Amino acid sequence: MRGRELRGELDAFLTETDQELVAFRRDLHMHPELAFAEYRTTQRIAERLTAAGLVPSVLPRGTGLICDVGSGDGPTVALRADIDALPLHDEKDVPYRSTVPGACHACGHDVHTTILLGTSIFLAQQAAAGLLPGRVRLIFQPAEELPGGALEVMAHGGISGVERIFGLHCDPRVDLGHVGLKPGPITSACDKLAIRVSGPGGHTARPHLTADLVFALAKILTELPAALSRRVDPRSSLSLVWGKVQAGSAANAIPDDGVAEGTVRCLDENAWHAAPDLIKSLLESVAGAYGIDATMEYTRGVPPVVNDEMSVDMLAEAVERALGPGAVVPTQQSLGGEDFAWYLESIPGALARLGTRTPGGVTYDIHQGTFDIDEAAIGMGVRLMAATALTALWEPVVDSVLA
Ligand SMILES: [Zn+2]
Ligand SMILES: [Zn+2]
Repeated sequence: MRGRELRGELDAFLTETDQELVAFRRDLHMHPELAFAEYRTTQRIAERLTAAGLVPSVLPRGTGLICDVGSGDGPTVALRADIDALPLHDEKDVPYRSTVPGACHACGHDVHTTILLGTSIFLAQQAAAGLLPGRVRLIFQPAEELPGGALEVMAHGGISGVERIFGLHCDPRVDLGHVGLKPGPITSACDKLAIRVSGPGGHTARPHLTADLVFALAKILTELPAALSRRVDPRSSLSLVWGKVQAGSAANAIPDDGVAEGTVRCLDENAWHAAPDLIKSLLESVAGAYGIDATMEYTRGVPPVVNDEMSVDMLAEAVERALGPGAVVPTQQSLGGEDFAWYLESIPGALARLGTRTPGGVTYDIHQGTFDIDEAAIGMGVRLMAATALTALWEPVVDSVLA
């Protein structure tokens, strides 16, 4: 079964289940749960998968689950959805508005979850009919927004034996019926940096007898970003920007400590990996020159999502199969973070951007209390995910030819 036949099967499936899926999404939307607290969401998914004849395995914390469809000797591909909501107030006036104060599905993860659920039911039917030439691992991941849910899934073997992984994210700037694709980096890294400096302190009349801590801190503030721009390939767009600086309390006293905090954003994976060591060595050399001590606390966020080229080709083929020609649109690398990146550090795969805007309608933004979608995007997403899994199973790539 290929191309047109698949589209016919998906049409029939969605005619039957579309209403149920929209109701499922609205139920999740009314009952959003924050990162690592998605107990009800997990139970609802598990119940529906079980009703479809599948055997879900809930992660040890009780939030998030993994479920395999199909068996046999074929390859295993994974489809991932994130299930958590954001700590935001729902500002919409709709019947399915959040009933939980301070929690809202403002990143569309209720949509991702519903799409993967619909895809799971479709694939379970395909498997029962003997039409699934391999295994599909369904990953309903908790806590994307924390982030950390992807690492939790991986720590429990979520991608062991998986050859390729796919995911999608709602894109409210893309019209319904279109899918944004891009090989290479598609999101960015964002880390946090905190520096603490200390010295003996003393009178501002005698900076030469102590260590002029405020002067040294000012040097650190300007020298680090400047040096990074000369030590790192400018194409990686590694940028260190300070957001908080504190030192001293009197005009005529050199303080004995101070702090500076900022963020490090980066478009390139290699530069992101090298950043902490490089910043530390630059910090030590500047601080050392002025006789002060400096310590650094570097908090990793997520790496950039780097889409594998072949996986993007598979997505493009799947879009054509499921949504017809002309549905693929180019998309830009965003400065946002997405923890799907952790999977792609281990196995190839790709993240697609699913158009959720009603053509000619309002352009919403994610992470806003007003965010909403055109619910016809749910069916589009099911078509895309189902076709992607089947495309990847029909055309397994022999990576070993490169070995
Ligand atoms: Zn988000
Ligand atoms: Zn998101």
